[in-house]
Amino acid sequence: MDEEAPKRRRRGRVLRASVLAIASATLLIGGALIRRADSADLQDVARELFPAPSASFMDRLDVSVFQRGNLHTHSARTDGDSPAQVVIDWYRTHGYQFLALTDHNTYLDGARPPEVQDHDFVVIPGEEITMVAAMQPVHVNAICTKERIGGGTFRTPGAALAWATAKILAQDGVAIVNHPNFHWALDPEHIAEAKGAQLLEIWSGHPHVRSDGDEGHASAEAKWDQVLSSGRSIAAVAVDDMHALTGLNKNVPQAPPGVAWVEVFAEETSQEAICEALAAGKLYASAGPRITHLGVGDDRFTLDVETPELKVEFLDHGGQLLASEQPEAVEDSGDDEARPVYRASYRLNGTERFVRARLTAPDGKRAWTQAYWVAR
Ligand SMILES: [Zn+2]
Ligand SMILES: [Zn+2]
Repeated sequence: MDEEAPKRRRRGRVLRASVLAIASATLLIGGALIRRADSADLQDVARELFPAPSASFMDRLDVSVFQRGNLHTHSARTDGDSPAQVVIDWYRTHGYQFLALTDHNTYLDGARPPEVQDHDFVVIPGEEITMVAAMQPVHVNAICTKERIGGGTFRTPGAALAWATAKILAQDGVAIVNHPNFHWALDPEHIAEAKGAQLLEIWSGHPHVRSDGDEGHASAEAKWDQVLSSGRSIAAVAVDDMHALTGLNKNVPQAPPGVAWVEVFAEETSQEAICEALAAGKLYASAGPRITHLGVGDDRFTLDVETPELKVEFLDHGGQLLASEQPEAVEDSGDDEARPVYRASYRLNGTERFVRARLTAPDGKRAWTQAYWVAR
């Protein structure tokens, strides 16, 4: 009989117990570490220590000067209720820096508009190319063009969009694919045919264009997202499609002024600066919320706003929600006159294709930034 056997068994038991104790301790510490790693602080520290093979935005923007304008407006020259001069005067005296008057197949030359061109307000050339395709209305706004283009009848909505866009680009103009949900005329596949069109209307104050969709139809914003998700870069605009300045003529569409607009990233109120920015999609769209500073660069997307009473959603392709935030007060400059600043920001984690922001006020009114693409 081996006298050492019980000792070995005892040593075996002690060893097993120690291994178990060490394993449990490791699990406990590991668990604690994993829990700690949830904290944003630790993630930031980790990022500093081990910078990711970094994702960064392709654009770099630092914008705090905006030119407010409406890109879709009608006058009595076609189906609006007021004369062109009166319409222009309304926008000039209501906080706008520019206006494109876009009557149906009727061109307005911004260089020789009614007597309004001054240092803080400009009229830019415009026309709503008004076409019919497969019995549906297909409209494209020609902005910053040099002469009238007019409309036509086409076999398919895609063919109409392709024709109008090519005509506009041939004049170095800016093409807006208008109201995709008017008569549910345009789907993302049609919009893809508007090759080179810089802008897409995703929201309108016109009561018949159904920007928000319904049970059976996607919203114009969702259609925009589908176009973006296909890899095509096109900028979103919001417009009045104003027809009813006085509202006294009930035979015109009852779309009032001042409901939705764009804020263009341009330092000066000139036709040249505004047209250049529009062509580059340098703007944000709004039907209410205001952004006072927009910053995109490296791995950060930052928005400053005037009130914390906003929901700021950061979205990726397919409408995927990356983060939803309420803006937080940031240190003020110490200047008593300065208004408080509230900030929402998003930091790339490296998985995004693009990031865009949507702001929603308590009354449901929204604003939309463009999609900023991520490079790796
Ligand atoms: Zn239209
Ligand atoms: Zn219109």
